[in-house]
Parts: sequence; structure tokens; C-alpha cells
Amino acid sequence: MGPIGEGESLILRVNRNCPWNRCSFCNVYKGKMYSARDVGDIKRDIDVVRRLRDLIEMNSGKMGLHNCTSRENLRQIVRDCLVLEGNEGSGVAPQWAAFRSLQNVANWFRYGGKKVFLQDANALGLKAGSLTEVLLYLKDIFPDIQTISTYARSVTSGRRSSQELEDLRKAGLSWCYVGIESGCDEVLKFMNKGVTAEEHVRGGLKLKEAGIRMAAFVMPGLAGAKSELSRKHMEDTVTVLNKIQPDEVRVRSLAVVEGAPLYEMWRQGEFQSCSEDQLLEEIKLLFEGLEFDCTIETLQMTNPLFTVKGPLSRIKGGILDIIDKFQSLSRAERAKIFLEHYTEGGYLEVVRGWGKCDSALESLFKEAIRAIYEGSPKAMEMTDLAISALKSKGVP
Ligand code: SF4
Repeated sequence: MGPIGEGESLILRVNRNCPWNRCSFCNVYKGKMYSARDVGDIKRDIDVVRRLRDLIEMNSGKMGLHNCTSRENLRQIVRDCLVLEGNEGSGVAPQWAAFRSLQNVANWFRYGGKKVFLQDANALGLKAGSLTEVLLYLKDIFPDIQTISTYARSVTSGRRSSQELEDLRKAGLSWCYVGIESGCDEVLKFMNKGVTAEEHVRGGLKLKEAGIRMAAFVMPGLAGAKSELSRKHMEDTVTVLNKIQPDEVRVRSLAVVEGAPLYEMWRQGEFQSCSEDQLLEEIKLLFEGLEFDCTIETLQMTNPLFTVKGPLSRIKGGILDIIDKFQSLSRAERAKIFLEHYTEGGYLEVVRGWGKCDSALESLFKEAIRAIYEGSPKAMEMTDLAISALKSKGVP
């Protein structure tokens, strides 16, 4: 799965899974082995994308179709073109696999074929020469591509030579998305992130010096419920960000998700999740502390209260006002707004759509709603419980 905002991108897999795979809060690649993909195979994938693009164009012309990327037209292409066999080893019917591949490519072209996202985790970790070769090939086959982005770990960019990073930028690498999560060494160590605050700064500055744009992901809630550590986590994170000054800061509040080592630690009582009030306080510290301008976004559904994307300099004042006003409300009022944010904001619906909204989760929400409307002193506690149970089901 690509990050939020990559819906217009061609997703190109250059490695499989995550080379680190030890962060306690992450369940994405657990149990899966890392491997780099062969450059020849990646180039063959790029060739397939080109052939699919040609097929869509050619058949659309032949059929006189106005909208060459509509589902029905793509289905017709699959029916007409026996050459489209799909991947029999993928576990889905070949015709369906063919349709899906065609749909991915059609979707990319519908958006102009300008953006590419390289997967999986830390694609920057591919051998520099190999990655440069892939980028050059991609741009050669699709000269209209404007933006190529990838996930990167700070330790990986920190270990790359300036020349290697500059070569990658010249070959077309425009953005690296870096999971900073925290600038607090204590939190980073507890979460087994495999990086220190100093390494975050070194890695980030090297990207910037090479002219590669950087989006830094930060994770409110990662320090857990202890208020002193929670504050230090965000203050240290702000310090790291102020040193790097990335182009974007993306806020991704912690969800203690099933399948992650942290979920077991939470069940054993070794980690206590912070409340929604604490999450919001950390986000306030973040907005207050950043001393440079950047795009800031809070689009992930795990974030409390508001969803925003824009230039920090323009929205900072308004967001801090919203938070201040919210924090002056009563506990019952805050609980109601938090609950509505996750139910009416779509998170609960997404989890229902996954088939993961079991009766226990439905009951927690019903009990929280009842507690709020009955004015129970436990309303906030029950709201936090329902929301953390919701977040444990996954991150939309
Ligand atoms: S580096 Fe990223 S993908 Fe890998 S385990 Fe950590 S959070 Fe998950």
C-alpha cells in the first residue's frame, strides 16, 4: 500500500517488504522476508506498463471509445485481447489479474502518468547503482514523469554518499518519505526503531543537501501515557524537525494495531496507550514548536479532532485556536467530539468495511455513547477505550 496522497501514482515495486522490520509499533511486513528485486525484472515490469498503456490506447482507438479508461472499456480489452493472461501465481483468476493490472495502469494515465511511487519499505536501500539504473530506465520509457517518490530510513540516507544521493536526484528521485516518528532517543529505543535522533538529523540533512525533497512522518502517542515522556517525545521531535527543516511534516498518530509487537506489549501491560487528550496536546506542541515553514498534513484517520493539509505559516494560528477552544470544553463535551470524529469521520465505517468490526467493538462504542449521553463521569475513559479498540483493527 502506498502512502496517503499517492492515488495518482504508478506503484512500482523495487524491493519486497522491509529490510529492518523490527519497529514495535508496525505490523505491515511482520513475518515477511526482505529481498531486493532484480533490476532486469523491474525493467521488465516497466516494459509491461508500457505495453499495457499501448494496448489501452490502441484498443480505445479501434473501438472508438471516448473514455478509454472506464471499467467497461477495460473489461472489453481483457475480453478481446487474449494476450492478456494475468499472473497465474497471484492467487486470483488470470482474467481478474489482467483486469486489475490494466486498471492500475489506466488509473495512472487518467491522472496524467506524471507520478511514480517506489515500494516497498526503504526502497532507497536498493544498491545506489541499481536504483539509479531503474530511475533512468523509467524516465527513458516515460519521459513525462515529473515526480518519483519513495520511503527511506534516516540511517540509509545517512550512509549514502553525497554523490550517490545527487546521482539519484539527477536520475529523477524527487521525494523521500522518512519515518522520523520521534526525535526522543528513549522512545526510539523502546520502539526498536533502529535509529537515534542524531542519525535522523544526519540522514535528513543529507537528503536536503542533495536536493531531494523530504516528507517527515511523526507519530504522536509513541511515548505512551506517561505525561513527562509524552512531552519530551514531542519536544525532542520538534528539535529534530527544526534542525532538518523538511519540506513536509505528516502527522500519523499511533495506533496500537493487532499483529504488531507493541500490541502484545500493551496486552501484557508493558505499554500504556495515551489518551485522545494527550494525543491532541502532543499535536499542539508540534504546531507550536515548529520554527520553519513547511506543508503540514494530518490526513491519517488515527489523528484526533481535525484533518488539515496546508502551509504551516498560514494555518498554524487557526489550528492552535481550535485546539485551545477544544481544550477549554468540559470532559463530556470533549468525549462527544472525539467520538464523533471517529464515527462520523469514516474510520468506523472503514473498519466495518474490512469486516473487522466485531460485536465487542460495536458494544464499546454503544457503551461510550450511552455514557456520554447519561453524563457519566466515566464517559471520557470509555470513549478512549472504544477509540483505541477501533485503532487496533488497522490504519486506513
Ligand atoms: S522501517 Fe517502516 S516498514 Fe519497516 S518495520 Fe519500521 S515502520 Fe515498519
